[in-house]
Amino acid sequence: MSTFKHHDSAHGLSTEIVHSKPVSASGFSALPVPVYRGSSTFFESTKAQRAAVDPLGLDYSYGLHGNPTQFTLAKRLAEIEGTVHALVCPSGLTGIVLVAQACLKTGDHWLIPENVYGPVQALARNLLADCGIEFSEYDPCNADTVQSAIRSNTKLIWTEAPGSLTFEVPDLKSILATAKAQGIRTGIDNTWSAGIAYKPFEHGFDFSVQALTKYQCGHADVLMGAVLSNNTAAFADVERKNRILGLGVSPTDCSLVLRGLLTLPLRYAKQAESGLQVAKALSRNTAIAKVLHPEFEECPGHAFYKRDFNGFASIFSVVLKPEFTDAQACKIVDNLKLFKIAYSWGGPESLALVVNVPESRKRHLAGSDGVCGQILRLAIGLEEPADLIADLMQAIEAAV
Ligand SMILES: *Cc1c(COP(=O)(O)O)cnc(C)c1O
Repeated sequence: MSTFKHHDSAHGLSTEIVHSKPVSASGFSALPVPVYRGSSTFFESTKAQRAAVDPLGLDYSYGLHGNPTQFTLAKRLAEIEGTVHALVCPSGLTGIVLVAQACLKTGDHWLIPENVYGPVQALARNLLADCGIEFSEYDPCNADTVQSAIRSNTKLIWTEAPGSLTFEVPDLKSILATAKAQGIRTGIDNTWSAGIAYKPFEHGFDFSVQALTKYQCGHADVLMGAVLSNNTAAFADVERKNRILGLGVSPTDCSLVLRGLLTLPLRYAKQAESGLQVAKALSRNTAIAKVLHPEFEECPGHAFYKRDFNGFASIFSVVLKPEFTDAQACKIVDNLKLFKIAYSWGGPESLALVVNVPESRKRHLAGSDGVCGQILRLAIGLEEPADLIADLMQAIEAAV
């Protein structure tokens, strides 16, 4: 309840309402970052409006360029990942598109891994190919294929660790050394590590992209991405593309991600531990041929994971024995009662999918008979692992 000073205005009611001043925020202090909204942001004077803005600073010249809520989120993400430059963008995919657009022009070439997040392959094959930008794929399990795929016009080497769907961990040190020796920019899709389990800037990456949609949001109700960098010139190129394309994010969504960050390390660790328990239980089930989880020795790149990472996510895949048909794999997923059938991950609910893996990866994952079974991807949420394990066991049993 409050009492306000009587205000006698010389203006009409509509003018009075529009120009009414907010109460002072002085004396109010609380944990949440306020949601600052505003398309027009006011300048103090014409001089201030005409002054050149620093696009890498706190640019309060127009709502699209940012507000304190958005910049606070970017700053916290930079702190988590141990770097200085960060911007937030409408989705994780947008973040990757921005890095590609910033580094590549007509006639250039880039390298992507065979196990890259699917829409990135579509980006390379469609939008960028239409602009005359070439790409080739390398085997994430053989860093020598990076060296041999480099051309005189290669301008970006893209990595993902571990790979989407099949979770191979590449030899990032070797890939970085190859790129550095030839002055080629490097980027990593670091979504799996949530900026916690792998520190790209300690290893020399130019860019890291995060799908904040996953663990940072953590509650399956926001789509957002981030581009982080410690290379000022490279980041300025991304920032410029972001402006040219007119991309912006909702301050309310930023505040939801800021709330998610408060519990990020706790959720990440808890979900990882639950995921590992579920993966171990599955590894003992006779229906499972292989567990594709970097903590497992049988996961390709396990040694590189041990060398470079200090944590793991709660998403992994299992390869079924080859005798399981596609219909049986689908039946397992359809039989699940606690897992939802859905894309994305990092939220409170566990998710399952039968995934379609490129043939190039299936060849690598095949058993001694040369056949690769159906692959199920599981993202573990906040439920009790014992309940999830029981659910998976009944679902497999009922599908055999
Ligand atoms: C989900 C995901 C993305 C894309 O994030 P969106 O916010 O959904 O666009 C990119 N990379 C990886 C590894 C992802 O899992």
